[in-house]
Amino acid sequence: MKEILQRIHAESKHASAHGSVASYIPALASARPEALGLAAVTAEGKIFAVGDARTRFTIQSISKVFALAYVMTELGEDAVFSRVGKEPTGDPFNSIIRLETSAGRKPFNPLINAGAIVVSGLMPGFSPEDKGARFRAFVGQLIGRKDVERDEAVYLSEKGTAARNRSIAWFLKELDLLPGEVEETLDVYFRQCAVSVDAVDLARAAAVLCLDGIDPVRGERVLEARTARVCKSLMVTCGMYDGSGEFAVDVGIPAKSGVGGGIMAAVRDRMGLGVYGPALDDRGNSAAGLDALRRLSEELDLRVL
Ligand code: GLU
Repeated sequence: MKEILQRIHAESKHASAHGSVASYIPALASARPEALGLAAVTAEGKIFAVGDARTRFTIQSISKVFALAYVMTELGEDAVFSRVGKEPTGDPFNSIIRLETSAGRKPFNPLINAGAIVVSGLMPGFSPEDKGARFRAFVGQLIGRKDVERDEAVYLSEKGTAARNRSIAWFLKELDLLPGEVEETLDVYFRQCAVSVDAVDLARAAAVLCLDGIDPVRGERVLEARTARVCKSLMVTCGMYDGSGEFAVDVGIPAKSGVGGGIMAAVRDRMGLGVYGPALDDRGNSAAGLDALRRLSEELDLRVL
């Protein structure tokens, strides 16, 4: 497995030249565009890591899967899906347009910003700090690490520049979908997006999803099976932004990407994969990461769709 990852790492590295690092959150612009890390955690609990797999980066949109799993665990499925749909949009992740034009006037799914902000608004806790800390503890359970941190520079950078997300949140407030204060809810959302992980962490969480809630490294259940399945289903249809359909056809694995350059992919019963490559294509997905996942899927016959 390690040799395969090493070879694919060498083959996919050049694909970073087809992308560029996100800069709409200013602090993200300092990432090394040529970085590429690949990690796998198998169903037997073996961990493989190559290249920049131990480089930390912010989880960004991948947090939306963990936040969904967290709120489903704490409050139940209905708490989320009475306020957010389960349908793909085909629009960019931060689009606001359908909130006004769709008949249901609720976000289409929890993996676009509008849906994710509603989910952040449901997180239990006394303050944004407390909610953020509890969320990080939950992520720590999934990835087997107690010291999950937030990248303070990225958090403050997003908080200081998020006009689009503020617009979305105020619109959600007007639709009566945010129980708390707008700025506090956004604070929780920025905190969750700024959680710092590496590709191995993503592979580890993906392995939990691939085994319907069992962590293969510790051999323990850390998530309800139903929760893991809901997350994976939404990852198939909505996980790769408006590139989800193409990814399903080309790679055929439930996956979620983030603008920090991460992708997590869960191969049913076989392995979790984590990728880091901060140069993004025009849909916001890691360019080298996509290339590597295409090659891995082909080489190891990982397609589950
Ligand atoms: N914090 C980012 C935002 O809301 C997350 C976006 C992403 O990774 O897609 O813009």
